[in-house]
Amino acid sequence: MKDYDTLQRFLFDDTDIRGEIATLGASYQEIIKLQDYPASVALLLGEFLVAATLISASLKHAAMVTVQVTGDGPVTAMMAECTEGQKLRGIVRGDYSLLPADDVLSLPELIGAGTLAITIEPDQGERYQGIVKLESEDLSGCLEHYFNQSAQLLTKIKLASCSGSASGILIQQMPVTQDHDKALTTWQHVTTMMDTLKTAEQIDLSHNDQLYRLFHQDNVRLFEAKKISFFCSCSLQRTVKALSYIGIEELLETVAEQEFVQVTCQFCAQNYQFGEAEIKAMFKPTEDIIH
Ligand SMILES: [Zn+2]
Repeated sequence: MKDYDTLQRFLFDDTDIRGEIATLGASYQEIIKLQDYPASVALLLGEFLVAATLISASLKHAAMVTVQVTGDGPVTAMMAECTEGQKLRGIVRGDYSLLPADDVLSLPELIGAGTLAITIEPDQGERYQGIVKLESEDLSGCLEHYFNQSAQLLTKIKLASCSGSASGILIQQMPVTQDHDKALTTWQHVTTMMDTLKTAEQIDLSHNDQLYRLFHQDNVRLFEAKKISFFCSCSLQRTVKALSYIGIEELLETVAEQEFVQVTCQFCAQNYQFGEAEIKAMFKPTEDIIH
């Protein structure tokens, strides 16, 4: 059985290598059904969503992880976000409606020349952002380039997606506590094996079967599954806050013309509507309580 919408950690016994493996099903479908994406845009967004999940899982502390590219291609921006508890959302910007509906286009064909940014916002502590140029044919390659440039830990990542599901595997060399030469040999062995994993295997096999297929000669321990879901963090309160920056005059002008101020969340398509009374209430100063 496939492990849809789950994330699992795995460890290699007697090494300092750690891995994460994740597969998306319904969570990914819910995100792509909100927009009429051409096939190749939906496929790439699937890889972004898995990447955000895997990177988030690899961190020591809980943080919101955003994987984002911007470029000069038909897709000007693509972004996936994973918050604590494997809650995912994603968004695509650009004039992708003109792209062929079913052709599979590569990342450079979709995004053009551009950059990849990974943003990590911990619950506590400072926000961190690393940026690299897009210099690879696929997202897995771009992420490896990013990890080589900016992270201290050796990292290998492999992503795959098809219509309706996406899967990925990430391994990381933790600080070495054993013999360094042995650690290097093990890392080379593990990454060479990972290179043999085919997209179809990532899509079709369970996590256990993927790991058995790759590492049946090594002692791998797979940990319990954590649930992945689609969740948008937009809310009435946040929308009100965002509107308050626009100013009451402009909002009331819109109400005069259109009866309501309407805000649609681009991540989840949720509609928020505000009439005249609600707009006025937003800007009413909080009264001081006098005893
Ligand atoms: Zn939303």
